Amino acid sequence: MVLMKFKMKLLALAMACAFVFLPNASEASKINDAQQTTVILEKEEPKGSADGTDQKYISANKPIANGGSPWLDVSVIDKKHEVPSFSAKDNFYSYNNDYWIKQMGEYGISSSYDVFNEVNSKVDYNIANLLETPVQFSHDGSICQKVYKMVKNWNRRDKIGLQPLMDDVNKIEAIQTLEDMDNYIIGDEVPNSAFCEPDLQPDLNDTKHYAMNIIPMGLTLGDAAEYSNMTVLGKRIKNANDVAAKKMMMLAKYDEETAKAKIEAMYRLEYALAGTMYTREEASKADYLQKTNNPVTLDELKEMAGRYPIMAYLNKYGLDQAERFSVPNPAYIKALAAYYNEDHLQDMKDTLIVYRMLENMEMLNSAANDIAMEHNLAVRGYKGSVPDWVRGVEYVKAVLPGPLSNLYAEAYCSKEVKQDIEGIIADVTNYYKAMLQDETFFSPEVRQKAITKLDNLKVRAVMPDKPKKWNDIKLNKCKNLIDVRNALLKWEIGEYIKKMNGEVEINWVPSYTVNAMYNIADNSINIPAGILNGVFYYSDYTYEEKMGGIGMIIAHEISHGFDTTGSQFDENGNMKEWWTPEDKAAYNERAKKVVDYLNSITVYEGLHCNGEINKGETIADIGGMQCILSIAKNKPDFNYKQFFNQYGKLWQSVYTKEFGELQVNTDPHPLPYLRVNVILQQFDKFNETYDIKPGDKMYLAPENRILVW
Ligand SMILES: [Zn+2]
Repeated sequence: MVLMKFKMKLLALAMACAFVFLPNASEASKINDAQQTTVILEKEEPKGSADGTDQKYISANKPIANGGSPWLDVSVIDKKHEVPSFSAKDNFYSYNNDYWIKQMGEYGISSSYDVFNEVNSKVDYNIANLLETPVQFSHDGSICQKVYKMVKNWNRRDKIGLQPLMDDVNKIEAIQTLEDMDNYIIGDEVPNSAFCEPDLQPDLNDTKHYAMNIIPMGLTLGDAAEYSNMTVLGKRIKNANDVAAKKMMMLAKYDEETAKAKIEAMYRLEYALAGTMYTREEASKADYLQKTNNPVTLDELKEMAGRYPIMAYLNKYGLDQAERFSVPNPAYIKALAAYYNEDHLQDMKDTLIVYRMLENMEMLNSAANDIAMEHNLAVRGYKGSVPDWVRGVEYVKAVLPGPLSNLYAEAYCSKEVKQDIEGIIADVTNYYKAMLQDETFFSPEVRQKAITKLDNLKVRAVMPDKPKKWNDIKLNKCKNLIDVRNALLKWEIGEYIKKMNGEVEINWVPSYTVNAMYNIADNSINIPAGILNGVFYYSDYTYEEKMGGIGMIIAHEISHGFDTTGSQFDENGNMKEWWTPEDKAAYNERAKKVVDYLNSITVYEGLHCNGEINKGETIADIGGMQCILSIAKNKPDFNYKQFFNQYGKLWQSVYTKEFGELQVNTDPHPLPYLRVNVILQQFDKFNETYDIKPGDKMYLAPENRILVW
């Protein structure tokens, strides 16, 4: 689950349901992917292939036209993109966005590009302006600027070379006994990440307080399911990892045979433990949070962990003083306890070395960075180089989100915009209240509980009134990016100690974030300033444009409070089921229709939409649309065309076939064209606006529609 352990925790907004899925947040692969959300457009002429055949016209239309049903996914691009014309009646997504898609198709797309990237680039550019000049004097500004400059300083990075990595690798190589391994894991100033670790999160049974979770390591293939049944995607990730790990090891002066042996050892270890881990599919199921809610006493943890030195680790840093502990995955901890012995010592050492190679490649010199770029290319069809300023900005975002958030908010947030957004949130909340009052499939008590939940919704729009202070983060002694990481780990342990037995303090989503979230852990809606740009929002947009943009996003997010996951958490975010079995059965019956319908959609030959994975997000989109259309009903002269067009624009995107495949398999959100076409075809108002009739591809007979609410 948590692979970018170090960053994930810094960035953690527990259990948030984000509007889009940023690949680096959940696509677990053991790499430092500071720049992976950034996609670079290269205005590059497509070249003929090496064997002389002209690949220019391998259009995406070919592969997708063979299987796509009922619509063609025009976002899939290859060397050169041709976008066939469709009418609004047959493929609204394509009709509404073909101009944008054609324009973007003229560029060589590295892996994907969409309006989130567009807005993200704008936000990144604004951040770079803050970090480039002039010198930032505030504490927050100066630490951000220090890391930013460190990332860009290739002379210095090349001079330092692999030394910071090798210091760690040499420690691992020197391990002779299991006691040595204990000491290595426990660490000296900071622990060394190994096979499980503590993670401070709100206690699911009482979200006002924390529980110290002991969580498993991440796996290099991401999804534990890959170890029992490897998919095409798994093979691609494996090949990319193997190549990168081998090259990194050879850079570190290991010979090829040794490198290969170490990679094999790593797989032996991962295969031995992966069977006890939750798969991505299991993690997307409604009972997942219940399954992972396992409070334990310190004695129980001690017994569970057996010989594994987690107790000594907690003790060394004072973390054993936490009042509550939880083990989300006891089977894993028990398996690890059984595995942790002298017989497996060499495999454990080799595994840690391979992990270090993959984790650190982007923090080292240019040779290591080239390997990281190649790895990106192989995993997601990423190509080209990333400008240094983008690298710098992405890196600072990943490691110093809090301080950077303050810096950005000071420069780019306004009180007027905050008020406007809070007004839209109030409109949406009021609608949901009215809707719940009329909802027939809820029992009266449950309806009342849902309304209480809405009344207690916490609104976090644009920026906090009183930003958190980050003065305890001290980076003055850091000489390289690995020092920075260690300093932040040390700071994080200090934060754990400070926070663990007090009341939960939920950090705001960083103000520069180009995304939106509903957080079930504290029943809050989070609309950071970063997303209030481009097609999502401009203060001078019409009401319809605002509702088609940020309004739809807000309505989508709030609906997550009332879906199967939301039903397990009360108005304070405590894990408390508030649906009756009858309510649940009624909901599931409707949700099943959504799953079946999504499963019937073919993206292209051999690739089907995954209803089970996409169910929750599709229901949120449909609920959001229903909400805004109901608000519109009471607005005289509401311009529906303008509204639907703006909504369609939210999902403008182009991507490689590999990227689309990755999204279908890993992302709870359906592909962009489905987020437009499947959602809109459910509504009479849409059919009426574009005169859609039986026989048109956008038409769905009323009896087949999948409205849940
Ligand atoms: Zn969502």
